[in-house]
Amino acid sequence: MKAMTPRPSSRGAAVLPGVKGLTDHQLRGTACVWCARPLDNGSAIDLGPRRLRAPGGLVWWFPRGCPACGKTGGTA
Ligand SMILES: [Zn+2]
Repeated sequence: MKAMTPRPSSRGAAVLPGVKGLTDHQLRGTACVWCARPLDNGSAIDLGPRRLRAPGGLVWWFPRGCPACGKTGGTA
């Protein structure tokens, strides 16, 4: 059995919460994916577009995080 290997943190490798509990703002990247704090464009951390399996097919969502959560990957 293979253990899960921790990856070095890099852009796009952050562990994101499941999309089911997220708000519209979080899915659009106007609020932090981890703490739901509203983001401004100056300080938001772009986590890269992600694809999501939805009833109509694959859709894109645009997770972003606030600086505090972005540093820790949402684990703080
Ligand atoms: Zn946050």
